[in-house]
Amino acid sequence: MENLRNVRNIGISAHIDSGKTTLTERVLYYAGRIHVIKEVRGEGAVMDHMELEKERGITITSAATTVHWGDKKVNIIDTPGHVDFTVEVERSLRVLDGAVLVLCAVAGVQSQSITVDRQMKRYAVPRLAFINKMDRTGANANNVISQLESKLGLTVVPLQIQIGSESNFQGIVDLINRQAVYFDGEKGDTVRREPVPADLVDATERARQGMLEALSLVSDELMELLLEEQEVPLELIHKTIREGTIAQQICPVLIGTAYKNKGVQLLLDAVSEYLPSPLDREIHAKDNNDGMAEVALSPDPELPLAAMAFKLVEEPFGQVTYMRIYQGTLRKGEFYLNARQRKKARISRILRVHADQKEDIDAAGAGDIVAVMGLECATGDTYCAEGTNVSLESIYAAEPVIDLSI
Ligand code: GDP
Repeated sequence: MENLRNVRNIGISAHIDSGKTTLTERVLYYAGRIHVIKEVRGEGAVMDHMELEKERGITITSAATTVHWGDKKVNIIDTPGHVDFTVEVERSLRVLDGAVLVLCAVAGVQSQSITVDRQMKRYAVPRLAFINKMDRTGANANNVISQLESKLGLTVVPLQIQIGSESNFQGIVDLINRQAVYFDGEKGDTVRREPVPADLVDATERARQGMLEALSLVSDELMELLLEEQEVPLELIHKTIREGTIAQQICPVLIGTAYKNKGVQLLLDAVSEYLPSPLDREIHAKDNNDGMAEVALSPDPELPLAAMAFKLVEEPFGQVTYMRIYQGTLRKGEFYLNARQRKKARISRILRVHADQKEDIDAAGAGDIVAVMGLECATGDTYCAEGTNVSLESIYAAEPVIDLSI
């Protein structure tokens, strides 16, 4: 079974028109799943990957798509941007371990940004913010950062500053590593790291100090080093960002332009480094055999299965049920109890959905998200293995362990 530490179940949320679709397509492109740059078709015409993306748009916006980034497996779960708190939206949020909140660098925090942020808070979903459209006239990352603080009440920690502005937006200074990062090639495929340009050295040091001071509020160890004016080890910076993000004490902020192919790879790095794995979340369910007593589930593939059907979708290849497995292992050919229907159902086919292909798999373990064919159920239904009878409808994430009021 795979190492759950390397799994990320994330959603990408945004106010309409902020670039969520463009960003998602770029993520799929960089994460290597849409890798057919040129494909000769029957009549000899050549299709580039953007056309392929369009043709496959239906799977790109699948309820859940799996991509790989370095040693991480990232399941991107489609989170509807509805303004209302429908049960459907809430279910999608419940299966996330983390999220990326996309904002427009010109428009800033908009009504749906506020709504999705409120929903994320309600389900204790840790998040990163990505300020997109940095190339547009009027783009102002500092304004957006102030709005994230004032309108959403987030403790933001910018990890980057921009090189050039508006149509001259050239790249990003990575404050942690004190490096300028540029994205070369038509699709920004090559990430080039260089020393910070001379005219940005002072701004970089000031912003880096600001970042460390913000982080010192969530790490005593880091604070002590700052007070003693000692260099803070990179490892400690990463660890503090990760732990602070997971406990939702901080919201790291990244910048870029999805459309102009700048910054997306660094966002994927941040998703890998700072958003939680299924092991970092506590999941509770109700025990139907024990007067609905609350039981904690453990993402252990050896324990009896507990999985939730969170979305039913008509895909081009048929009706599918998207499931998140919270405990145990879902196996093809096995029978499991649908706790609501009180009857057993056989799992005839399990699929992993990639952007440009679907893969038949025999089993999927706790922490994973897969598509199951041929099930008759409703969203929110729980499937359990012999010996368990729990309902996940009551699931919630653990409260942050650390007191936020410093
Ligand atoms: P969504 O509604 O949030 O999914 O937004 P889309 O991805 O559909 O983008 C909305 C519009 O903004 C489209 O016309 C995109 O081409 C454009 N767009 C997306 N990202 C960027 C960006 O980084 N810079 C600029 N200038 N335009 C962008």
